[in-house]
Amino acid sequence: MMSETATEKRTTTVPVLDVRGVKKVYAGSGRSVEAVRDLTFEVSSGELVCIVGPSGAGKTTLLRCIAGLLEPTEGEVVLEGETVTGPPSDMAVVFQEYGRSLFPWMTVQQNVELPLKARRTPRGERDARVADALDAVGLSDVTHAHPWQLSGGMQQRVAIARAVAYGPKVLMMDEPFAAVDAQTRADLEDLVRSIWKRLGVTVLFVTHDIDESVYLGERVLVLSSSPTVILEDVAIDLPDERTQLETRSSPRFSELRSEVYELVQRAKRGERPRSEDSSAGSSPEDTGA
Ligand code: ADP
Repeated sequence: MMSETATEKRTTTVPVLDVRGVKKVYAGSGRSVEAVRDLTFEVSSGELVCIVGPSGAGKTTLLRCIAGLLEPTEGEVVLEGETVTGPPSDMAVVFQEYGRSLFPWMTVQQNVELPLKARRTPRGERDARVADALDAVGLSDVTHAHPWQLSGGMQQRVAIARAVAYGPKVLMMDEPFAAVDAQTRADLEDLVRSIWKRLGVTVLFVTHDIDESVYLGERVLVLSSSPTVILEDVAIDLPDERTQLETRSSPRFSELRSEVYELVQRAKRGERPRSEDSSAGSSPEDTGA
């Protein structure tokens, strides 16, 4: 039986993240770059949303604006009703470079509990959260190991556990599996879905991998080329229970994959969404890609 679609879910749940008309112009010496033109979308509580777009589309810029690391030139990011003006305490980010995000002289346990210590979480609660998070990522038996004793995939699991232990409302992941081999990547994708289900956390997952976005997401936001707008918001109506073998070989997966692939190709060609054709000050040729 087909599960509830992303669109249906969105109408019944509360928006946790509201990105309103975000524009970012990088001002350089004598030259300014309009990286992001107008990004507007909502993410409901508990959704898993993927963002795809060609290289240079502004994925990193958007992520930094959402994470409060970069101030939008116009527009705003609203997290749970509050405008983001700095790194929000309810958000955790997992980056691609796990090697640089873990401290090599600390054990797995110490790495995972670090943000909780910084937040002065009491010892008992800290221990419980770290144990739960390490259990969720399947690393309960290596708590006393150091990161350099673990494989790349296991190190990224530690980084995910650290984000999870923090108990964020929104978990953002920036190309987190780009540096691991294909088999490990598949395992980590399944891990993201299992954590998402287990914890009910809202996930925003940035990737350039089309198959990955369709396999993981309930929605896929396809970005245009820079200056960036949203080209399309695709609802992924695949069954909720997904497995690498069955889901990826299903006809619906192929259709959705083709749809997103075609959209990304259109983005690469510099195509703009139809709504922009009539807006003042921009023309279909004016893509600056
Ligand atoms: P993506 O992550 O999708 O590859 P980015 O957000 O890194 O895209 O970049 C979007 C656009 O903004 C690109 O044209 C890039 O050259 C430009 N850009 C990114 N960072 C800066 C910066 N600090 N100064 C000037 N231009 C930048």
